[in-house]
Amino acid sequence: MNPQKETILDERSLTPAFLGILDDDGPLFLEKIRVFSRRMTLRIPFETSFGRFDSLVRHFPAITFRTEDGTTVTGIGECSPLSAPWYDYECHRSVEVALGYLTASLTGKSVDEADGAAAPGLAPVTGVESFLGRYRWIVGHAMAKAGVEGAYWDARARLRGVPVFRLWGGTKSDVEAGTSVGLEPTVEDVLRKVAVAVEEMHIARVKVKVKPGRDLAIVEAIRKRYPSLRLQVDANAAYDLLNPEHLARLKELDAFDLMMIEQPGRNDDIFDHAVRLAHLSTPICLDESILHAVHARQAIALWKQYSGPSRLVINVKPPRVGGYLEAIRIAVLCAASGVSVWCGGMHESALGKTANVHFSSRSEVNLPGDHVSQAPYYVKNVAESPRYEEGRLTVPQGVGWGLGELDLTEETETP
Ligand SMILES: [Mg+2]
Repeated sequence: MNPQKETILDERSLTPAFLGILDDDGPLFLEKIRVFSRRMTLRIPFETSFGRFDSLVRHFPAITFRTEDGTTVTGIGECSPLSAPWYDYECHRSVEVALGYLTASLTGKSVDEADGAAAPGLAPVTGVESFLGRYRWIVGHAMAKAGVEGAYWDARARLRGVPVFRLWGGTKSDVEAGTSVGLEPTVEDVLRKVAVAVEEMHIARVKVKVKPGRDLAIVEAIRKRYPSLRLQVDANAAYDLLNPEHLARLKELDAFDLMMIEQPGRNDDIFDHAVRLAHLSTPICLDESILHAVHARQAIALWKQYSGPSRLVINVKPPRVGGYLEAIRIAVLCAASGVSVWCGGMHESALGKTANVHFSSRSEVNLPGDHVSQAPYYVKNVAESPRYEEGRLTVPQGVGWGLGELDLTEETETP
């Protein structure tokens, strides 16, 4: 046997220093954690096969640190789960439970004693890896973890007096913004929404949701009206990659010059996406099935073997992969192998959306993200979203997330 030389970066080498992340401002003593929970009313209710949601609960962990010289700083992050476990197993109820364990681990207490205040004599955090190390034992619960990590980065950036993207090695001052159009009742309804995105918003690209039987006619109609539109489809795991009819429909999508077909197969599959769709010329994008950098490395290896890295795209959502360091690791792994990357959304509030924009300012994030919607998601948001103009969003330049004072006043009991 003559094993092929491994040319894919190994995630163990992707340290913060290797990634160009600034994280060396000395020890931070964690003083307390307070979680704000807000039920935020949606402007347009969210319809799924099992129910209708008029609001989403967002958790905002606020962590106060003290430096060696006694300066205190509070950073805030966001947990962005859906209201029920349909995208993955997390939902706002599971996030609330996980935040109990995260708070206990970070404050050095048992989960039954955790009240948000640090245990006496708790050792300081010396960098992001020591922060993450406090709760590395917790399996899964990526969306809960991303919220507390966000608070860490906001605090670090505030201490240094810089925007978060500067710590993260971001270089772009604005990022391309796309939008997502859902499964509307008719093709005409989809076309109407696409027309608003293209003709009024001048969006950078359009993504439309598809499922078997609700795919070819939609894409054909959009292509007919907009021959050069940057267009991609997202199936949210609706196709069976062992079903010849489903495979034939996906192959037919090759005729429409799509940027990618996102997650057609199972939400936890990588292998069948690589092998059974290798004959498509349209790139395949993985979303739900990439939970960390190990998955990304394995996907890259499979695509190198079966079709080629230029036919793989990864939608990196920081909440899905457990936070921002892991998101940057995946983006760097992908770029090193010629795999394209973009940043999807989880109906974040302005805070979470802005964190995604800071992440997207990394050069490795090379395709437009799902950063804007046709109408604001929420009746009342926690801050103003970054400025959108002609398909681009400005990366905020203020300290921390660059959002100024957040409005977290409407605290509610999590139902
Ligand atoms: Mg998706």
